Amino acid sequence: MPPPTTPASAPASEALFARARTVIPGGVNSPVRAFQAVGGTPRFVASARGPHLYDADGREYVDLLCSWGPMLLGHAHPEVVAAVSEAVARGTSYGTPTEAEVLLAEEIVARTPVDRLRLVSSGTEATMSAIRLARGFTGRDVVVKFAGCYHGHVDPLLAAAGSGLATFAMPGTPGVPEAVTARTIVLPYNDEAAVTAAFAEHGHEIACLITEATPGNMGVVPPAPGFNRFLSETCAAHGALFVSDEVMTGFRITSSGRWGLDGAVEGWRPDLMTFGKVMGGGFPAAAFGGRADVMAHLAPEGSVYQAGTLSGNPVAATAGHTTLRLATDAVYAHVDRAAETVREAATAALTEAGVPHVAQHDRNMFSVFFSDDDAATPVTDFAGASRQRLDRYAAFFHSMLDSGVHLPPSAFEIWFLSAAHDDAALDRIVSALPAAARAAAAVPDPAPGRTA
Ligand SMILES: *Cc1c(COP(=O)(O)O)cnc(C)c1O
Repeated sequence: MPPPTTPASAPASEALFARARTVIPGGVNSPVRAFQAVGGTPRFVASARGPHLYDADGREYVDLLCSWGPMLLGHAHPEVVAAVSEAVARGTSYGTPTEAEVLLAEEIVARTPVDRLRLVSSGTEATMSAIRLARGFTGRDVVVKFAGCYHGHVDPLLAAAGSGLATFAMPGTPGVPEAVTARTIVLPYNDEAAVTAAFAEHGHEIACLITEATPGNMGVVPPAPGFNRFLSETCAAHGALFVSDEVMTGFRITSSGRWGLDGAVEGWRPDLMTFGKVMGGGFPAAAFGGRADVMAHLAPEGSVYQAGTLSGNPVAATAGHTTLRLATDAVYAHVDRAAETVREAATAALTEAGVPHVAQHDRNMFSVFFSDDDAATPVTDFAGASRQRLDRYAAFFHSMLDSGVHLPPSAFEIWFLSAAHDDAALDRIVSALPAAARAAAAVPDPAPGRTA
């Protein structure tokens, strides 16, 4: 699907991409970075500062990726750089306990409902470990998840829905054995009846239900009012654990994550939570935590095994702790406002150009669905998120890139803002939007019988 605009050339990135592809599958270390969904050459970034990325050709981009969420404060924040530099100079890993990991754990416990937590190195490790702990704690096997929610590349969660509701799932990728997804149930998001039916049939076997606190990996699909609480209560009624995955939302949409928006008000809390992204301050750090009695089942106190050579790494823990300390209410107020500015400008530009779309948000997390029908129906689940004109997004993306704005290279991803996105950066985004909207509008409709 070649983009209709002529992309600005990026010779240094092209040369690096060619070299990368010979030694790294697809030339990337995480698939979406390869630009396959939008075509063209990914930009190899040489440095970043504040709201900007600088590529290997020396071009500057206003960054709407923010490393897929973590860079809440913007790039190379001076206080984070200083704290990390001091930590590096003291040695980078000891394999012993350190004060840095205590400080980070205390900060997370103070801000969230988790009693205790364990630090790991990636969001994938956090959700994988939370599920093992839930299975070990309950003595049950079955895990329930929602289609379109992403919890990292954890084998039992790389699952596609079975043939009917409340039936067991199929592997979502080659390499995951059927036996592994045979204990996973995949349900449509925001569908209380499907959850009720699955628990009615399998409630006594269900170890946990895991959900994104606000799904952000199929675009932003907020939970219907009361949905998270309903999930929590349904789990409790069946002796299953409610696992709220806040790897993306945690410390991104509020200082405590999405839980703070409903649980803190309504008086419930998840049994287990997972965190990552922002809490690592741009380093590989993540965590899972929750109820003290559940966490006590983890080795060495309990019998559920879990470990990591670099878990709680002192440099990563310092970056995370410093970032959380700097993530004040004023930071969230700024990022919320910046996101609203961009979201409203995008909607205005697309409306003006006649491009059907739906912009959805939860605080500063937002995404734009390039709807495949003129009705631009609100998206409540993965089936809805999948009905998009990906060809229009590709044209839109490349126009923005040529104007010096780096959007996520996939229509299913969030446009992330940071505290470093100042008026100048926002102006550059806003002024690039009309041409990008016109480029999207110029994409011809697919021939009848073909889908986009
Ligand atoms: C990013 C993400 C993960 C996976 O984290 P990694 O650090 O990429 O392994 C898990 N859950 C959610 C909700 C995420 O957004």
